[in-house]
Order: sequence, then structure tokens, then C-alpha cells
Amino acid sequence: MKTIGLIGGMSWESTVTYYQVINQMVGKSLGGLHSAKTLLYSVDFQEIEHCQSNGEWDKSALILIDAAKRLALAGADFIVICTNTMHKVADQIQAAIDIPILHIADVTAQQLIKGNIQTVALLGTKYTMEQDFYKSKLTNKGLKVLIPDEQDRIIINQIIYDELCHGIIKPSAKQAYLDIIDKLVKQGAQGVILGCTEIGLLIQQTDCLTPLFDTALLHAEEAALLAIS
Ligand code: GLU
Repeated sequence: MKTIGLIGGMSWESTVTYYQVINQMVGKSLGGLHSAKTLLYSVDFQEIEHCQSNGEWDKSALILIDAAKRLALAGADFIVICTNTMHKVADQIQAAIDIPILHIADVTAQQLIKGNIQTVALLGTKYTMEQDFYKSKLTNKGLKVLIPDEQDRIIINQIIYDELCHGIIKPSAKQAYLDIIDKLVKQGAQGVILGCTEIGLLIQQTDCLTPLFDTALLHAEEAALLAIS
């Protein structure tokens, strides 16, 4: 079994999901008492968020490169960055290490294609929704990506940083997300990417008829499968 190197803590609320899903998947696949060989480097999210809001992406890349190097040195066979947003600096991290990164947007695109989705809505932080680093991974594979309008992007982003990353789950936030999803489905979205690893803490497939692609679940499951392949 390969050893998974998780860079987590962004936020730690969703890193819990990764740890749980990876172990469940390995247990389910191998049976018995099997569980995943895992190393976790969990960052101080305050430092990362400070870099994000100040546009200091290179500085945040250095923090994550340091984490990735420590994981490689400790014996990780590949790296999983447990956040969509920080994949903005995935290329910089990859260039600094000799082990591969399992890219969250590649995993998501693969599942969308498998699900026969052509037009997809993307919910995530303002960085993920508005910038190109994530969307381009999807459009390069021929997918059409819809994002919420400006007012709705503000709501989505605020709920992520002010509530979900603090472990606060409110029915009003859930309704706000479902209303936004509804608008995007009316615009033609055949599926919705929960493109922030905390959104799955708020909404699940049982809340919505449109297929949801929960990036934390998909990424963690793929990491587990890669570890035992
Ligand atoms: N976990 C979130 C994501 O998947 C947001 C936190 C962050 O900015 O890294 O994008």
C-alpha cells in the first residue's frame, strides 16, 4: 500500500472528512481491519487565509512547499492538497517535489465526464469561482462551467469563511446555497461542483435532485484508490 501525504488544515473541518473517507474507502476495498497509511501535515489556516486575502500567493506556496517536502521526507508516495483554492499554487508545489500531486480538479473533471455532464455549475471560494486556475482544468477537458452571479458569489464565499471553516452549519446557509443551485440549474447546469472542501458539510446529495460533485469526497476516494492500486 502506498502512503498518502495529506496537506490539510484548510480548513481542518474538511480535513476530518478526508481522513474519514480515505480510511473508509481502504477498509471497504481491502476488508478486514485494513486502513490507510497516511501522513498529515496540518497548517495554521490563519496564515494561509492571510496570504490569500493579501494576494500573497507566492508566500502561501512557500508554506505549502515546506509541508509537501516534509511529507515526502517522511515517506509519502504522493501528495493530496485538501482544498480546492490552494490548488492555485499546485504547479509551484509540484515543481519543488519529486512525488506526484493528485490534483483535485483533475479528479473532479474525470468524474464529471464519467457522469456524462457537459455543463456544470461551480461553487467555491471567490478565488476558485472567479479565477482561471481551477476552471481551466475543466474547460480544457471540454466542460462548460457556470458560476453564480456576483451577489451570489459573495454569499457563497462569506458562508465558507465565516461559517463552514468555523464548523458553523446553519439551515439559512443551506437554503441560500440550494436557492443559488436552483438558479444555476435553470441556466443549464446538469451538475454542481461543490468546489470547496467544506461545502459537503452543509449540503449533501439528499438535499438536491441535481447531481452534486463533492470535491472533498471525490478527492479522498481517489486518493484511497490510488494508495491501494
Ligand atoms: N477548503 C476550501 C476550498 O476547498 C476553502 C479554504 C481555502 O481557502 O483553502 O477551497
